[in-house]
Amino acid sequence: CGIFGYIGKKNAVDIIFKGLEKLEYRGYDSAGIAVVIDKELCIRRSVGKLCNLGLSLKENPISANIGIGHTRWATHGSPSKENAHPHTDTAKTVVIVHNGIIENYVELKAELQKDGYEFKSETDTEVIAHLIKKYCKGNLFCAVQKTLSRVKGSYALGIVSKDEYDKIICARKDASLIIGVGVGENFMASDIPALLPYTRDMIFLENGDIAEITAEKVVVKNIKGDIINREIKNIRWDT
Ligand code: GLU
Repeated sequence: CGIFGYIGKKNAVDIIFKGLEKLEYRGYDSAGIAVVIDKELCIRRSVGKLCNLGLSLKENPISANIGIGHTRWATHGSPSKENAHPHTDTAKTVVIVHNGIIENYVELKAELQKDGYEFKSETDTEVIAHLIKKYCKGNLFCAVQKTLSRVKGSYALGIVSKDEYDKIICARKDASLIIGVGVGENFMASDIPALLPYTRDMIFLENGDIAEITAEKVVVKNIKGDIINREIKNIRWDT
């Protein structure tokens, strides 16, 4: 399982797909990708090998400058198209990819269902998409902060909203997540090798970090919203 994200001027779909290929060795049962095209979210998901997703993208090509991708190793909910990531809220405003386990998802799901939120998957992950939507009052970062204060468990998360389509928000706790720093473009990935074709400058997020990534800038904050100084490390080794 792994995640990959891109924002910049190139075609995010190609770059994310190649990134997911590099993460294949981690094991997965399904894969998916989400991008923003003309201010709308576009999501593609496939069960099985990554080449199935590749085929669907070949038949119906899409291109965009921002997106996130996922290879899933199912923990909650069978390996199916409905359970494959990315997951979105009912209004298809927010889209997320997640590695890890949300331990208190049963309680959160019951609470959200009582509020009228409709679930489309059996995953633990989907609660995050609905919570972000619920808490989003015009500021995605604040909504993510509030959501993560309610969530227990482990996560590497990539989040995109069609209302703030110039940024990816990512967060980590007990799962690996690295930001690749480029020139006029930035990346995020579960591991170093997936980023190496594009950049050697990397920021290693630590537990509790939430980062806001645009094409030009990376800002790392803590859950309280204070800016944290994370050093950019230059990776010298090859794969
Ligand atoms: N717990 C999530 C799911 O089952 C994420 C699994 C993963 O890390 O790929 O969908």
